[in-house]
Formats: sequence, structure tokens, C-alpha cells
Amino acid sequence: MKAMVLEEIGKPLQMKDVPIPNPKEDEHLIRVLACGVCRTDQHIIDGEIVTKKLPLIPGHQIVGIDETTKKLVGVAWLAKTCGSCAYCIEEQENLCDHALFTGYDLNGGYAEYVVAHKDFIYPLSDSYSPIETAPLLCSGMLGYRAYKMLGEAKRVGFYGFGAAAHILIQIAKAQGKEVFVFTRQDDVEAASLAKNLGATWVGSSLEGSPTPLDAAIIFASDGKLVPQALKNVKKGGVVICAGIHMSDIPSFPYEILWGERTLKSVANLKRQDAEEFLALIEHIPLKLQITTYALEDTNKAISDLRDGHLTGAAVILINAKE
Ligand SMILES: [Zn+2]
Ligand SMILES: [Zn+2]
Repeated sequence: MKAMVLEEIGKPLQMKDVPIPNPKEDEHLIRVLACGVCRTDQHIIDGEIVTKKLPLIPGHQIVGIDETTKKLVGVAWLAKTCGSCAYCIEEQENLCDHALFTGYDLNGGYAEYVVAHKDFIYPLSDSYSPIETAPLLCSGMLGYRAYKMLGEAKRVGFYGFGAAAHILIQIAKAQGKEVFVFTRQDDVEAASLAKNLGATWVGSSLEGSPTPLDAAIIFASDGKLVPQALKNVKKGGVVICAGIHMSDIPSFPYEILWGERTLKSVANLKRQDAEEFLALIEHIPLKLQITTYALEDTNKAISDLRDGHLTGAAVILINAKE
């Protein structure tokens, strides 16, 4: 089968012909239709998140046909948990000490086939096409875990407006929240997409919010945004860092955390988050902004994401047609 393989950290992926993987007893073989491109893939390729597995096929937003059940299924970042560590027992499997991740510890979906553990395969409805579904499987699901941490907050800030934020704003709007969007100063396309999707206010991430926020989610991986976001949330507010990697957070005066503000991160996702999200979006018809790439153009998708040349989500077409 054809696959895009990471052989050396910091180098582009290589198109290779590799054997179709052999599923073990508790695994299913999946014929990949489409695979979303996530910021985490870029961090893995660039070595900002260090993988122990090389060569590696990245990609963890996989939509395909389960060869065992012949059904349309999704495979996401969480590939397997141990089920017996303190976190798994306390229903915090997203924090499992021995978790394995798709496209990181195990080969992922930038390939014609992938294997996945049978308990970590999500049945998909046909409400969304395979191409539309791909970015929902991390940007959507993991974004949703961050979104849930907003709780009852009404006025919320989104820092960064890429794949995740453009999905989450639609859920936030449907649930009656006002969304204030902070983008990079020169990112005109992201700003206009945010406006079209109902943002109350759109400005540069260097600007102060026009009104104090109840909470904010930082989707971007720039640690400098943390003090900016803390300055914009009111007393008792929460700032959530949604990315798996972030550059160092500069020191900041205690005053901006004081007043019972909370700063927290989101790590991975539980299967329950994924199932809740997939059920929710059956009732909230999402409009998705997607740029598609052929499998052999995966490096272009990654570099467009790295360079900020992408609006919305990127999806690699494998056996799917547009
Ligand atoms: Zn991801
Ligand atoms: Zn565990």
C-alpha cells in the first residue's frame, strides 16, 4: 500500500510502498478514505513532540471502512489505554499512564490502510461526508473537550481560529454563547471566516478584549497568548490551553491570575468525549471549511498549516473522491 512515512524528524514525509498491516486479534483493518491534518502531526514531524516510533506513518483523524464490519468508522488520537492504572480506574482514561496514540505510538492514517484496536473505533453516521468527518475526529472532538471546560461561561474568547475553533464556534453559537475571536494580525481569511460563522467580535491577539470575558480557549501553540488571555478574563474566569504543545509561557505578573482565575490544559480525550461530540453534531449541522490534498501532497498540507496558509481544516484524500 502507499503511505506517507516519517523516517527522520524534521524531514518531509516520504511516499513509500509498504505492506498492508496485519491486524492482531483485538484489532480491525480499516481501509482509509480520508485523514485530517492536525497541528499535532506538524509538531511530531518537526520534533516539537518527540515520538519513540520511527519510521512512523502520522495522521490521527481517520475516516474509513472497517474491513471486519464493512461499516463507516472513525479512528482518533487515543488508540489504546491500559484500563488498569489509577487514571483509567478513575474514568480519566485521557490521562492513562500507558496510553498509546494513533499516528504517534502506532501508525496512523496517511496511508491506504491502518489497523486500530476494536474498542477505539467510532461508528459514524452518514450526516457528514467522509471528507467533512475527518477534521471532526481531533479538531472537533478534542476541541469539544476544551469547550466543555467553559461550563456556563457566556462570553468566551477563542485564541487562534483554525480547524478546531471554526467547528467549536458553531457549537458555542448554537448554545447561546458570544464568541470573541483573536487571530494573528495578518490573518485576514481567518478573521473573515470567524465573522461569517457568527463571531461577536474579531481582533488581533495583541488587542485587549472590548469587554471582559468569562473564559477563553487558546487553540494556538504560542505561549505568549497565555498572559494575553488571562488579562482578558474577568475574576473567577478560566483560561484553557487546548493544544498538545505550546511554546514557553513568558513570566507574567501574579495580578493577572489573582482574583481566582484558573489556568488549565486539556490532555487528549476520552472515548466519552468523542461519543458525546458525535451525538451533538447530529443536531447542530456544522459548516466545514476544508482544503483537500492528495496523499502524495501531504507535505504541502503540513507546510501550509505550519506557515499559516490554511483557513479551516486540511484533509488528505486517500480512497475518497471529492
Ligand atoms: Zn490532533
Ligand atoms: Zn491506564
